[in-house]
Amino acid sequence: MEISQALLARYKDVVAPAIYRYTDLTFVRGEGVYLYDADGRRYLDFSAGIATMAVGHQHPRVVEAVIRQAQRLFHAAAHIGVMEPYVALLEKVRSLAPGRLKDGKGVLLNSGSEAVEAALKLARYVTGRPLIIAFQHAFHGRPMGALAATASNALFRRRLSGLAVGVYHVPYPTPRAPFGRSPEERGQIVLELIEEALRTVLPPEDVAGILVEPILGEGGYFVPPPGFLEGLRALCDRYGFLFIADEVQTGLGRTGRWFAVEHWGVEPDILILGKALGGGLPLGAVLARRELADAWDPGAHGSTFGGNPLACQAGLATIAIIEEEGLLARARQIGAYLRERFEEACSSLPIIGDVRGLGLMLGVELIDPDTGKPAAAHIGEIVRAISQAGVVITKCGEATLRVVPPLILTQEQADEGVEIILNTLRGWRIR
Ligand code: PMP
Repeated sequence: MEISQALLARYKDVVAPAIYRYTDLTFVRGEGVYLYDADGRRYLDFSAGIATMAVGHQHPRVVEAVIRQAQRLFHAAAHIGVMEPYVALLEKVRSLAPGRLKDGKGVLLNSGSEAVEAALKLARYVTGRPLIIAFQHAFHGRPMGALAATASNALFRRRLSGLAVGVYHVPYPTPRAPFGRSPEERGQIVLELIEEALRTVLPPEDVAGILVEPILGEGGYFVPPPGFLEGLRALCDRYGFLFIADEVQTGLGRTGRWFAVEHWGVEPDILILGKALGGGLPLGAVLARRELADAWDPGAHGSTFGGNPLACQAGLATIAIIEEEGLLARARQIGAYLRERFEEACSSLPIIGDVRGLGLMLGVELIDPDTGKPAAAHIGEIVRAISQAGVVITKCGEATLRVVPPLILTQEQADEGVEIILNTLRGWRIR
C-alpha cells in the first residue's frame, strides 16, 4: 500500500477537509464493475461514482465515443453555435421521457445541482411565482440555490442560513416520520400538511412548483408510499404548480425503468437529470414541457461548458448501451436478487434492520439490535471496513449502506459483493 499511502498524504496536505471522503482508498484505473488502487489492488464497485457509472468503468464503446469526439472538438460553447452531440443527447433523452415531455425542450448543464438550479429558475421564470415546495431529507445539491432546497442534513447549511431561494419544506413520508400508522397514511398526512400550509403560510398563487425526488436518495433510499407522488401531481394540477422531478440519481435506468416516476405513472412538468447522463463526464439536464421551455426567454439561463461535446458523446454511448444490453431488465433482475440475498441475511444478522429500494438503488439499513435505532455511530467505520475488504460502498440516510453498482453487474459479481459485505457485518460488534 506504499503508493496509496503516499498519495493519501499528498491529498491531505493540499485538499481542503470540506470534501468529505468515505474511504482512504486511491483509484487509478477502472474496468467494468471493478476499480483498482495505486498499488494494483482490485475492488468491486458498489458505489459507481455515487450512482453514476451505469455501464461500468471504461466501457469500450464509451471510451471510443469520447476519443472520437476528442479528436474532433472539445469545446466551442452552446452560446456561440450549434454542436450536434448537444442536440442528439436532448433528442435521445426526450424520446425516453414520459408523457408530454416526449415533445419537450431542455438545456444541458455541467452537474446535477446546476440542473436543479436551472429547473428552479425556469419554474420561477415561467410561473412568475417565487416559492418552491420541497421535502425534508431531500438532497438536491450544494450550490446555494440547490442548497436552499436541500434538507437532508443541517450540516450542509451551517453558517449559510437565509439562502435566497424561497423554499418551504414539508416532511417526506418515510417510516421514520413521527406520524402515521401505515405508509399510505403517512403519504396522505403529508399531502394534508401541504394543503394546510397553502391555507395558512403559503399562498398558492406564490408557489411555482413542487420539487421532489421520486425515491428519496441521500436521505436514505426511501420509496414513497403508494399514491403519494400521484397525490402531489393532483395538488400541482389543482393549484397550477409545476411538478419538478429530481431524477439526478434515480434517472436513466437505476431503478429498473428509464425514470423512477414511471413506477407510479406520474408525469412531471420538469425533469432534472445528472450523474449517469454524462457516462462519467460532468453533465446535467433539464427537460421541460414544450410550452414552459418556450416561455423561458433567450438569455434567461446559460453556461460556458454546459452540454460540452465530450460529455454528450459519453452520455449518448451510455444510453445506447443501456438500451442494447437490456440493462433496465438487468437492473430489475439483479436488484431483486441482491435484495433477496440481503433480506435472507436479516434473520441471522440482527444488525440489518431494513432492506429497501427499487432496481439497483438499494439501501441496507443497519441498526443497533438492542434499541432498533439506526447504527449511526458505527456506519462510517463499517463503510470503511467493507471498502477495505474489497467492496467500495457508501452510505445514505442515518445508517444505510447504499448499494448502487453499475447496471452491468452479473449475479456472480453480486454474490461476490454480498459475501464481502455480510462477512464484514458478521464480525461487527455494535457494543
Ligand atoms: N439531486 C440529487 C437527487 C442527487 O442525488 C444529487 C447528487 N447526489 C444532486 C442533485 C446533485 O448532483 P451533483 O453532485 O452532480 O451536483
